[in-house]
Amino acid sequence: MLNHKDAGQYYDEIGAFYELVWGDNIHMGYWHNPDDAHSLAIAQDNLTDLFIEQTLQHGGTAVLDIGCGVGQPAIRLAERSACQLTGITISERQVRQALTRVQARELNGRVRCSYMNAQSLAFPSASFDVVWALESLFHMPNRRRALQEIHRVLRVNGRLILTDFVARKQLEPAQQLFMSQLFQMQPLLKSGAYAELLEQSGYVVEEFRDISANIAPTIDEWKVNIARQQTELTNVYNASFVAMINAYAPQIEETYRQDMGYIFAVARKAAIS
Ligand code: SAH
Repeated sequence: MLNHKDAGQYYDEIGAFYELVWGDNIHMGYWHNPDDAHSLAIAQDNLTDLFIEQTLQHGGTAVLDIGCGVGQPAIRLAERSACQLTGITISERQVRQALTRVQARELNGRVRCSYMNAQSLAFPSASFDVVWALESLFHMPNRRRALQEIHRVLRVNGRLILTDFVARKQLEPAQQLFMSQLFQMQPLLKSGAYAELLEQSGYVVEEFRDISANIAPTIDEWKVNIARQQTELTNVYNASFVAMINAYAPQIEETYRQDMGYIFAVARKAAIS
């Protein structure tokens, strides 16, 4: 249950868990301010909307979504623009689910989805105006390589828009172990090192915002949903899986709240790199 070969195998197996506790968007919610009382589902769409606003602002038409999940964020953009979307994921299950959702909304002509590893993209250079990495880079063993690949497929002055987890402090070995086993999380960078990595990879960082406070209520929503779905989770997985989640919950919560942060960034592919 805990040892997955890669994030693809992880999502193939754990996808049903996310559907039950998180819904179609496999990402954190974004609450605009402490008085914002929207539901998790709306807050998750709000996070996607940060990407959509930036994409439309930069006039992107060919958009690549790196780690597209079951396609929900890409579909939301397609329904609000004339963009051509290409989603990739390394989960076979997610590819099938994304294609079903795209078909149901009759977006086949504009939203594509395929199985591909972001660290080795099968697209020609300079083929996208905008690339999204919505909470996917933290899964990648070679984040630098993925950023270089994204850089290659972006046209000059194209934008990479991303959210990702960062480390506030180096995790203890035991924390890193359960975060990698339970979430396929690779070791995280601190904010400063992350921005530097983007620059070293040929990007001009235009926006780099710590939005940890905006996404923090997601943890409370998670706890409520996990408590609410105990029976369903036991039926889909088994009692020992649910017991394991419950046992780790306090440590996961503490790690998220105290030792990790979350950033939103917009980076432009510089003319000369
Ligand atoms: N962006 C989506 C899904 C986020 S979950 C959403 O917001 O709903 C993380 C995603 O990253 C999953 O789709 C997973 O398959 C993908 N992913 C992780 N490692 C990857 C890799 N090396 N190449 C491509 N996709 C990857």
